Amino acid sequence: MGKMKDLVEVFSRILESERTSHAYILEGSSPAQRIQEAERLSMLLLCMARHTDTSAPCGECISCKKVLARVHPDLILIEPVKDLIRIDQIKDLVSGLKYPPLEGQVRCIIIQEAQKMNSDAANTLLKTLEEPPSNNIFFLTVGSIDQLLPTIVSRCQRLSVGVERISPYAVEAPTELSRFELYVNEVTVNGIEDNESSKIIEKRNRIFEILSLYYERGKEAAAISNAFQLSKDSAQERQDFFELLLCLKVLARDLLLIKTVGNDAELDNLLINNEYKDFLIELSGKFHESDLCQYSFQLSELENMARRGINLEYAGNFAILFWFGEHGKDRTS
Ligand SMILES: [Zn+2]
Repeated sequence: MGKMKDLVEVFSRILESERTSHAYILEGSSPAQRIQEAERLSMLLLCMARHTDTSAPCGECISCKKVLARVHPDLILIEPVKDLIRIDQIKDLVSGLKYPPLEGQVRCIIIQEAQKMNSDAANTLLKTLEEPPSNNIFFLTVGSIDQLLPTIVSRCQRLSVGVERISPYAVEAPTELSRFELYVNEVTVNGIEDNESSKIIEKRNRIFEILSLYYERGKEAAAISNAFQLSKDSAQERQDFFELLLCLKVLARDLLLIKTVGNDAELDNLLINNEYKDFLIELSGKFHESDLCQYSFQLSELENMARRGINLEYAGNFAILFWFGEHGKDRTS
């Protein structure tokens, strides 16, 4: 309970300040804890006694009671259905936002596990976040912001849920661990908390070696044959395949970030594969933002398909061939 109060306090301070936003990302901790926090913050916004005690919802007024009973008409919860948030759900939501809130001054919208939006849903939400109808406050819950499109992240203010962990983005990251390694230690691959980070790092390094062969050293045939070998090696176990997807996802994420932030000093603190910064900047010029977005979603879909038992080598080839040929060549716009 102590932690929950903390975030409510942080949030009420934000509300009193000039730094308010119409959209917040609640990241970290567990899915259950994140949703609980999102509901608490919504309760704070909807509470009718809030003006007398700004640091917490009263928990007693009719509005708070409706939130607790999950029947408040101005609190909308969008949940994944069969592990996916679809465009219809977001479209239905958006069409209702043009009407004013029913009971109070504000409407709260919680998008639960926002990384489960498919690409159409995410793009529809993005348009709304870019020009939000007034009196609507969004809360997106997510394990880690790397799972969301940078374009969505840039529209939201971030709040962290639960215990502060060592951030992979901390400037004073211990030098003996690379930021990628810190990142790998933090994420869960296929439900396994303790990843063998050395195996993942080896895959990551092979991917960069392949890309360097292809884009820097002009050895295209060698690059492609190494790529097929990597895909084959990653098809031995499902865990290996998930590790390969993770590396590719982070790569696409870094490139999208460069597209969003530009070659800025800030980049140093944001890239996960930061030791490859110069090469990544080079590479980002060869891919379109929309292709990279779409690719990120395809990787998530491959992950789901792998759980249902598709041929891993075939899926790996598909995932890795994105980086060659029509996508990569001469697309410097
Ligand atoms: Zn209340």
